Amino acid sequence: LPSDFKKALPVLEEIEKAGFEAYFVGGSVRDHILGLPIHDVDIATSAYPEEIKTIFNRTIDTGIQHGTVTVLFEEDSYEITTFRTESGYQDFRRPDSVTFVRSLEDDLKRRDFTINALAVDRNGRVIDKFDGLADLNKRVIRAVGKAEERFHEDALRMMRAVRFQSQLGFTVEAETAIAIKDNAHLLNKIAIERIREEFIKLMLGKSWQIGFSDFLNLDLFEYCPSFNDQKSNLEKLLKLDDKSFVDEQSAWTAIGYVMDLEPNQFNKMLRDWKVSNKSREISVATDKMLKQFKSGNFDIWDIYCLGVSNFDRVKSLCQLFRIEFDDDTLTQKVVNIPIESSHDLAITGNDVIKILGIKPGPEIGKYMSDLEHKVVEGNVYNNFDKLREYLLSK
Ligand code: ATP
Ligand code: MG
Repeated sequence: LPSDFKKALPVLEEIEKAGFEAYFVGGSVRDHILGLPIHDVDIATSAYPEEIKTIFNRTIDTGIQHGTVTVLFEEDSYEITTFRTESGYQDFRRPDSVTFVRSLEDDLKRRDFTINALAVDRNGRVIDKFDGLADLNKRVIRAVGKAEERFHEDALRMMRAVRFQSQLGFTVEAETAIAIKDNAHLLNKIAIERIREEFIKLMLGKSWQIGFSDFLNLDLFEYCPSFNDQKSNLEKLLKLDDKSFVDEQSAWTAIGYVMDLEPNQFNKMLRDWKVSNKSREISVATDKMLKQFKSGNFDIWDIYCLGVSNFDRVKSLCQLFRIEFDDDTLTQKVVNIPIESSHDLAITGNDVIKILGIKPGPEIGKYMSDLEHKVVEGNVYNNFDKLREYLLSK
C-alpha cells in the first residue's frame, strides 16, 4: 500500500472494528494502480453516516443526504461515503433519490467508469467487479454498464470521460464513444458551472489534445457556450505543440486566439461560461497583450498597463503560437520595472504640490502620470530625491 493509504489504514480498521466494511475507492485507487501521485483518499463504507459519527470524535457533515461525512484523523481528513445506489434521474442530472445500501458491489455499479469503480481493502486486495484493471491496462475509459443509460442518468459523465482522457492520455472505448456522440445534446441539461469545471480540468490535463480532440469529434463542443460553429477554428489547437497550459487563463486565451475573437467577444464568451471575474479579467488582459506581441506594436508601458504578472503567460503562449519577439531584451526590461502601480511611486500628489508650489487640480494628475511613465520606462529612479530633481528640471 502507498503511504497515503497506510496513513489512512487506522480509519478503515476503526470502521471494521465497529462491525462494518470499509474500502478505499475512486480516483485514489485508480491513480495508485497507475503509479501516479494520489490526492484525497476517499473511503466507502457499509456504515450509515450516523454510525460513522459515533465511531469518530471529529467529523464534519459534508453531505449527509448523499451519505458523506468528513472524518478528521490525526492531521488528515477523509471523506467517508456510505455505499449507495441512485435512482430516478428524471432530469438527466441528479438522482431523484439516494438509497443507502450495505453492499460494496451495488455502490461500485453506480460509478461512472470502470477505472473509477475499483476498491482496495485493508490488505491491499483490489476488488474489481467491472474489469476496471483490464481497462486500466488497455488504457481505455469505459462506462460501467450500458453507456447510453449511464449518460441519460447523468449527462455530466460525458464531459468527465474526455476530462479523464486528457488527464490520463487514455482513449474512450468505442461503445462509450458512440453513446457520447448520440447523447451529447443532453449536456444542455447540465449547469454551465459543472461543465466548465470538467472542461478546465480537460484543458489543463497532460494529454489535453487527446481529450480535446474527442471533445470536438464526439460533438460535445456544440453544446458549450460560443463553440457551436467553431469546430474548424478549435481544431487549430490540435496542430500546436502538445505542451501543457500553465493555467486556466492561458487555456482560455489560446481558445479565444484560434477563434479570432475581438476583445469584447472574448469577454462575452468568458461571461457565458461563467468564468470568475478575476479569471476573466486576467484572460482578457492576457489576450490583449498577446495580440500586441503579435502585431509587434507595443512598448514597456503597454506591458505595465496590462499587468506585468501576465507577461510570463503571454511568453509561453507566444511560444505555442510561434510568435517571435526579442525575448531577452524585453524580459530584462520587464523584470526591471520597479513598480506595480502608481501607488508604488516614491512620491505623492501632495509632494508634487509642495515641490512645485502649485495649487491642487487636474494638473497634479498629469505630473504624476509623467513620473509614472519615466519610472516604468527606466528613465528616472523611483526614489524621492530623484523624482523631485526631475520635477524641478522640467
Ligand atoms: P480526481 O482525481 O479528479 O479527484 P476522481 O475519480 O476522484 O478524480 P471525483 O470527481 O473526485 O473523481 O469522484 C470520485 C469518484 O466518485 C469517482 O472516481 C467515481 O467513482 C465517482 N463519481 C464522481 N462523479 C460521478 C458521476 N457524475 N457519476 C458516477 N460516478 C461518479
Ligand atoms: Mg477525487
